[in-house]
Amino acid sequence: MVYSLAIQTKNKQEIIDITDKVQEAIKKSGIKQGTCIVFTPHTTAGILINECTDKNLHQDILNKLEQLIPTKSKYKHNCEDGGCNAHAHIKSSIIGASKIIFIENNKLLLGTWQRISYCEFDGPRQRKVHIKVLKD
Ligand code: ZN
Repeated sequence: MVYSLAIQTKNKQEIIDITDKVQEAIKKSGIKQGTCIVFTPHTTAGILINECTDKNLHQDILNKLEQLIPTKSKYKHNCEDGGCNAHAHIKSSIIGASKIIFIENNKLLLGTWQRISYCEFDGPRQRKVHIKVLKD
């Protein structure tokens, strides 16, 4: 079974902590030992595992990505018809559309400071995240 989250993003680019929602899906699955796959079916979004306590870090990650891959540059993708979002596709390619996390005792086996986040690179939009929980 796949658990799906609906995420309404509010900004052009943002990082949203979804750890509690992923943990909820694992709890619902009743699976004690296994593997969790978190996947977003979008080409301008990503799934990130990193610290979330200090929200300034999210801004630092977005700022650095923007510095490396500026929103406006000499891209070829869809730039003639105004839908120029190549930067968002490239950011999504770097962060990745999915992450795998192990499950122990019905809980995500994350490090102390690790959280799972959804990354928006071309919002605001209505988005989805799919969660698959596999039993050992
Ligand atoms: Zn595009």
